[in-house]
Amino acid sequence: MSEKIIAGNWKMNKNRNEALDLVSSVLQDLPDTSTKVIFAPPYLYLEEVARMCADFSNVKVAAQNCSHFDKGAYTGEISAQMIASVNADMVIIGHSERREYFGEEELILSEKVNKALKYNLQPIYCVGESLDQRKAEEHFDIIENQIAKALFHLDEENMKKVVIAYEPVWAIGTGETATPEQAQKIHAFIRKLLTDQYGEEIAKSISILYGGSCKPANAQGLFAQQDIDGGLIGGASLVAEDFVKLIEMRS
Ligand code: PEP
Repeated sequence: MSEKIIAGNWKMNKNRNEALDLVSSVLQDLPDTSTKVIFAPPYLYLEEVARMCADFSNVKVAAQNCSHFDKGAYTGEISAQMIASVNADMVIIGHSERREYFGEEELILSEKVNKALKYNLQPIYCVGESLDQRKAEEHFDIIENQIAKALFHLDEENMKKVVIAYEPVWAIGTGETATPEQAQKIHAFIRKLLTDQYGEEIAKSISILYGGSCKPANAQGLFAQQDIDGGLIGGASLVAEDFVKLIEMRS
């Protein structure tokens, strides 16, 4: 069975004090749940956030990116090994903002996935179509391509460790959300791709998250869908009360 997950992607927000305050507030009000809760703060705070979460077995810490190189003369880069060494558990790979602003494409993203797995970090691999691609009805092809090229070289053992996040680009940070039906259609499509490639048992064990302006006001319908295992949350993860509410709703 796939895990229920609520993951907060803070992006480039919060100074150190604000970051630690946010984590304390969420942990203080954390519902008694088996839902996996993930904080993805900026790199700088990973170690401290991981320390704060160490006693909560269902709370994990993720980086927002990692280098596709192992180590060496790559000024400004952060490797998967470094991330693992400060006790983070996971890493977001292929967020649409990385694809759009930093030109990351599947070839590099598949290497990032490999590096994450090499150092025992669970990848949260993001996919999603732009508004133009949806209008042109290309969204299924785009998503198939994003998944096949970056993930389908993995063997079964490694594939089982991957979490997939469907994030329609037109819904990220825009206030626009996919309707529960639109989101479910894509999630079911992703589950089918996984089934065709790895079989039903593995496909059912992989968590597929929805992301894109998901907040307490619209999460109920999304989380009620059969193939939506949880959310990758941007804006609403920056407000402790909203993030806790989303955890409650997914519990
Ligand atoms: C995200 O960045 O992953 C995201 C879903 O952002 P928001 O919730 O703000 O749309």
